[in-house]
Amino acid sequence: MFIHYIFIFILLSRCRWRGCKTAIIRHRAEAVLKIEKIFMRKLVQFLNIFLWLPLTLVPYSSVHSSEAKKFHIVTTVAPITNIVRNVGAGYIDVTGIVPDGTDSHTFEPVPSDAKILGAADIIIVNGLDLELPTVKLAEKVKKTTTPILQLGNRTLRKEDWRFDHSFPRAHGHPNPHLWPNIALAMRYAEIVRDSLIALDPQHKKGYIANTAAYLAKLQKLDNAIFDCVKSIPQNNRKLVTYHDSFAYFAPRYGMKVIAAIQPANFSEPGPREVIRIIKQINKEKVPAIFGSEVFPSKAAEQIARETGVKFIDQLSDDELPQPPDNSFIGMMTNNMVVMTEALGGNPRCMANVDTSNAIP
Ligand SMILES: [Zn+2]
Repeated sequence: MFIHYIFIFILLSRCRWRGCKTAIIRHRAEAVLKIEKIFMRKLVQFLNIFLWLPLTLVPYSSVHSSEAKKFHIVTTVAPITNIVRNVGAGYIDVTGIVPDGTDSHTFEPVPSDAKILGAADIIIVNGLDLELPTVKLAEKVKKTTTPILQLGNRTLRKEDWRFDHSFPRAHGHPNPHLWPNIALAMRYAEIVRDSLIALDPQHKKGYIANTAAYLAKLQKLDNAIFDCVKSIPQNNRKLVTYHDSFAYFAPRYGMKVIAAIQPANFSEPGPREVIRIIKQINKEKVPAIFGSEVFPSKAAEQIARETGVKFIDQLSDDELPQPPDNSFIGMMTNNMVVMTEALGGNPRCMANVDTSNAIP
């Protein structure tokens, strides 16, 4: 346009007759009009960019962050799934593949689990050989970058593994039930936190805050369990359970596991074994024996009948209670109320425990 103006100026300076000047001035007027139009168009474009830009950027950034990819964590048993959910609340998606009420020791993954494991960003299991078929499948189908985090193996040194009646040393698979010991469950939460931070450092502060809040709840639970056991008469601080899930719990809280009824192959005990346990219960004078709905047992009922002790089938090592206590802490709270009451203690020991889950 600048060249256009110079051209008009030269023409005007060389014009010798009136008509010529009028024609050129008209032409100039058209040129100015054209320039005005272009200027207005540029002005509108400028306003569009600088006035609308902030308005369009704000919703874009908020939409973008709310739709940001959440990492996908795959877990196995319900207590571990629940610990991971509380540590990662708001930042991760979690899928637990062992269905509620399933015997986790004999659980075999189904074909659809291969797809779930194949899409995982981290696979978190208890380990200590609890989920061997799942770990085996995960190793085949997982992404090469996806770690398999075995919490139990990261928590205990090999020399601290416990072998007993249901998990004999000769079979080589240790007792895997670390989580009813709340000090070990707290270690699980810390290991999960560090792994999530390594995967997703952008939300480091969130994982640290979630874990701190969760550890405070676990600490309260741990203290309450100590109070429960203290309220049980000393001679009654003995456990006979069907399923052998309190092997790491008992030494922490001052209880003694007298016997676990379930044999190593997770079937029912033979007659000779039943007689041995009956003799032991009579000798130790335990007031109750405990089972769980996941493991219905005719043998445990028979032992209770013949010894005259109460049989309470309400303990749980991996099935969470229904809402509002649908959490690992809720499961342990129920266990302690049942156990404390049956052994002659004061079940109000759990009254102040917070069984709620973190809200994502
Ligand atoms: Zn178990």
